[in-house]
Amino acid sequence: MMRIGQGWDRHRLEAGRPCLLGGVRFDESPVGCVGHSDGDAVCHAVIDALLGAAGLGDIGDHFPDTDPKYKGANSLDLLAQAWKRVSDTGFRLCNVDLTVIAEAPMIGPRRGQMRASLAETLGVDPARVSVKATRGEGLGPEGRGECLTVQAVALLEI
Ligand code: MG
Repeated sequence: MMRIGQGWDRHRLEAGRPCLLGGVRFDESPVGCVGHSDGDAVCHAVIDALLGAAGLGDIGDHFPDTDPKYKGANSLDLLAQAWKRVSDTGFRLCNVDLTVIAEAPMIGPRRGQMRASLAETLGVDPARVSVKATRGEGLGPEGRGECLTVQAVALLEI
């Protein structure tokens, strides 16, 4: 049986914040994501796609942002924990595909690192993890540089 899931996350961008996406640090970025955890919206969207495919709820059920334990949490660790909960039920990962929508940072030069980081955390070949990016063309909150949005889909097989 195949199961598909989708995830979506948006974080406000602020100047001078560390920028982490897919567990990769963008030290060159002038802006970073605001969040209760480390603000890694890529990991958060992938977590929701995986949990959704498995029918296991969402990131807020598993890692509530009201819990002080998750303040400043490493989202790659949260992804590893979420994937363990999903894979423990017998699912295997076919592929993940995600799109980052933001004016900054530039994803292209870091795409390979992001794929490797996510794939290592999920225990799969990087060929199973796709990272794409687009810009807001001056429209909406992404286009104005106010936020970064991530859409992800995951396909599981059992
Ligand atoms: Mg988030």
